[in-house]
Amino acid sequence: MNILIVEDESSLAGALEHILQKAGHITDWVSDGQSALDYIRGFSYDLILLDVMLPRLDGFSVVHQIRTEKIVTPVLMLTARTTVPDKVEGLDAGADDYLTKPFDTDELLARVRAMTRRTGEVVINEISFGDVALSLNKAQLSCGKRTVQLSPKEFQVIRLLMGDPQMTFTKELIIDRAWGMDSDITDNNVEAYISFLRKKLRYLKSHVAIKNLQKIGYHLEMEP
Ligand code: CA
Repeated sequence: MNILIVEDESSLAGALEHILQKAGHITDWVSDGQSALDYIRGFSYDLILLDVMLPRLDGFSVVHQIRTEKIVTPVLMLTARTTVPDKVEGLDAGADDYLTKPFDTDELLARVRAMTRRTGEVVINEISFGDVALSLNKAQLSCGKRTVQLSPKEFQVIRLLMGDPQMTFTKELIIDRAWGMDSDITDNNVEAYISFLRKKLRYLKSHVAIKNLQKIGYHLEMEP
């Protein structure tokens, strides 16, 4: 199993890596919530061990954001907090299970086994629209034999559009979903990314076009 460990206490992260690697798993470790999002979007994991109190972005926000993006990787939240409201908040945000710190090795491994047994049914690695396919773990867009690598933001914008092709996305909605509500990104930035994506679609010789609907917003269309 590929497991991402998101934990800012390096001694605990080291211990987790040791335990999980000894049990035959492959691990990556990041120490803040924003890096966690980058790794989860960029790579494919079977399980995410996610601390709650993290620098830059807390664990609840991380799990909420990835579920919004339709990433279904199981999340086991690690927390020192034991109160019921925190557990409910994490589960509401889209976590699958909880493990309260401190925990022992056997309990951790048992939970990991139980959670990874549940996967396999709902692994989504690719979404498609028209003649293009988007690889969710490689952030690559393909059409026929041509493939292009997308930057992280290009990937998020096209994933948004391809994830709901019936919908027209305003610039505000794109900024909110791809950058977060607190960002200082402007409409011009969105236009720039749409223009990069159009160039890549042309390079792919795809018939998919990003249409700008009467200045309302963007949506995907198949052209003849
Ligand atoms: Ca922490």
